Amino acid sequence: MSPIALTKKLSPAEVERLYVAVRDVLGEWTERLRQEAGDNFPEKVTAFRPQMAVHGRFGQPCPVCGAPIQRIVYAENETDYCARCQTSGMILADRALSRLLKASWPRSIDELG
Ligand SMILES: [Zn+2]
Repeated sequence: MSPIALTKKLSPAEVERLYVAVRDVLGEWTERLRQEAGDNFPEKVTAFRPQMAVHGRFGQPCPVCGAPIQRIVYAENETDYCARCQTSGMILADRALSRLLKASWPRSIDELG
């Protein structure tokens, strides 16, 4: 699912899929971090963890399909996603980079060499 999909435009099936995925992933991470912390207070609190599928993994291979993880930078925020798995191969415009590259900006994951 695209990281910039508008929730009000999702179909009921997509809402269901998103709900199940969010519930499963949060449950999985709650369990993982509980085990890691044990009886102690959690240390090294970070939103960037190597086991995450795409978050903080710009340029690294997607764990599902192997395509390089893409990134959108907006102000101080960063959104990482897999173009092949999440946006049907479409590269979402990164404002800073696409301005710099103009016409040579790839439109799809298959145009990346
Ligand atoms: Zn992928």
